[in-house]
Amino acid sequence: MSAVPGVVTVEGVRHVSGSVHTPGDKSVSHRSLILGALAEGRSHIEGLSDGADVAHTLRALRSLGAAITVAEGGPVVIDGGRSLLRAGTSDLDCGNSGTSMRLLAGLVASIPGRHRLVGDDSLSVRPMDRIAGPLGAMGATLRGRGATLCPPLEIEGGALQGIEWTLPVASAQVKSAILLAGLGASGETVVHEPEPTRPHTEEMLAEAGAAIEVRPEGGGRVIRLRPGALRPVDRLVPGDPSQAAFWIVAAVLAEHGDVTVEDVYIGEQRTGYIGVLARMGADVALEAGSGGSGRLRARSSALHATIVEAREIPSLDEVPVLAVAAALAEGTTIFRDAGELRVKESDRMRATVELVEAFGGRAEELGDDLAVHGLGPRGHLHHAAFATAGDHRMAMAAAVAALVAGPGQSTIEGFSTVATSYPGFLADLARLTAHRPAPLAAERAVVAIDGPAGAGKSTVAGAVAERLGVERLDTGAMYRAVAATALSRGIDPADHDAVVAIAEGATIGVGPHVLVDGDDVTALLRTPDVGRAVSVVAANPDVRRHLVERQRRWVRERGGGVVEGRDIGTVVFPEARLKVYLTASPEERARRRDDESAAGVARRDHIDSTRAASPLVVAEDARQLDTTGRSVEDVVEEVLSWL
Ligand code: C5P
Repeated sequence: MSAVPGVVTVEGVRHVSGSVHTPGDKSVSHRSLILGALAEGRSHIEGLSDGADVAHTLRALRSLGAAITVAEGGPVVIDGGRSLLRAGTSDLDCGNSGTSMRLLAGLVASIPGRHRLVGDDSLSVRPMDRIAGPLGAMGATLRGRGATLCPPLEIEGGALQGIEWTLPVASAQVKSAILLAGLGASGETVVHEPEPTRPHTEEMLAEAGAAIEVRPEGGGRVIRLRPGALRPVDRLVPGDPSQAAFWIVAAVLAEHGDVTVEDVYIGEQRTGYIGVLARMGADVALEAGSGGSGRLRARSSALHATIVEAREIPSLDEVPVLAVAAALAEGTTIFRDAGELRVKESDRMRATVELVEAFGGRAEELGDDLAVHGLGPRGHLHHAAFATAGDHRMAMAAAVAALVAGPGQSTIEGFSTVATSYPGFLADLARLTAHRPAPLAAERAVVAIDGPAGAGKSTVAGAVAERLGVERLDTGAMYRAVAATALSRGIDPADHDAVVAIAEGATIGVGPHVLVDGDDVTALLRTPDVGRAVSVVAANPDVRRHLVERQRRWVRERGGGVVEGRDIGTVVFPEARLKVYLTASPEERARRRDDESAAGVARRDHIDSTRAASPLVVAEDARQLDTTGRSVEDVVEEVLSWL
């Protein structure tokens, strides 16, 4: 198993895209091992989860007597049989895994002798009383710490009788423990589940030849099982849909998201979160393949709130990451009856509220409901320092929040817990975010000239373009054109939507004359009013988005050119052939802008450099050129020499 570092920093990104395989489904992996240990003969399991949780189940089964061979790159081979299994001499260490402990408890209840099941600090405070009731009624003796029987759990196994049991709380783990015990009991075991939970145990028992029958009953199901031997099964474990949820949500929330998760288990008890996201307006699709697995795909979407019923996501495993999605949706999302979150690997109810709030969202516990008040699609999460309290799903949900929190980075402490279920998480994250937009062929033929007001951009850009025989685009004139049009139409430059409507919808022609919707606004561009309004307009991220799109189109249509502005080398054409960053002393810049006061220039510089959206910065690979006291010819010659 690869090591996962304890503290990680996750950078905000714009692109989350590509295709990914999640590790083998955890639920199916645990059960494949346990049923393989019971089956009379040799089973093969391919694609077993590589997480620490499943490794704990594997080692425990070995110490109970199953012969399990793990070959690098090949299937896991199990030589099992009930007669091989006996009480081990050492503790059965379940690590962080509640599934291991509850399922193994059901298994060992019918294996004569004394068994001691232990776990790490987090597992040692999780209640085991819900399995003690039915297993005790079947004839096993269970002892644990305190009233709720926290681990270490001591089980006296032996002859059991079948029971009829109604689950008071929907739980696939408790159901599975009873069924595994029932397999080695005398007489029939009947479990009534008022709400359907993950059906893996029943499905896999049926495949292994158990005498099992599942029927609907009310809103849930009734399962009848007669004891008996199992036959070995060769199995390909499908990818884990719960782990896929992290990438699906990241793709939906990213500015440019498009992720496909291949070969995942798509049973309805496990993919309820896809329906929830679809209802929130997400562009998500589930495509069935063969053998119960399929493909999930998600793309960037604007979300609105919804009400999530507990039965839609029986395990509640995807709630933390869905809460991150809800934090950016329009309106308040309610996760109903989510109290079970309090007894997961951590108090996930509280941890989810803390996660959302740490990243700048709003959430609260309302009794057993979890409410997330969304910031809306125009809202933004911010970066944070977050501690996971040893809970892998909180760690991965925090990583998703960080990915979509915009420029900057977050720190997540206690990240190594991710190794319990998804050791390759960071490698997959790196792959899905490594995307760089394919450089447009034309982009390489761009000369980017950036710099603050009065540094000489327009003069130099014009002269360089002329010498090269290419066109030149003044992007500042585009922002000024939007500002001038707003003012001339009586629109407040701070009116987000009205100004975006101009940037999006108006025809803007930039050349010797600047025309907006056919009106010549050239004379207005350099007025003090427009000088004041333009920085406000340029700080509007949606205005920038539309104008950047227009600038890229301009270059594509011409196959290149000289483009001047403040973010050309950093944001608009990061792959530009040459990036020049012009500067000049403040005195010189103020003198050159004779149409604007020194205070006005300084004010515009300040706003441009401190705004959140594409602030004025020097591209790492830009050549800086101080034009103070130098002639235009001189500067142009130097720029051309770099080409
Ligand atoms: O080029 P000029 O100095 O006339 O730009 C006017 C304003 O437009 C700048 O102060 C800045 O706020 C905005 N601008 C921008 N990004 C660009 C070009 C201009 O934010 N690429």
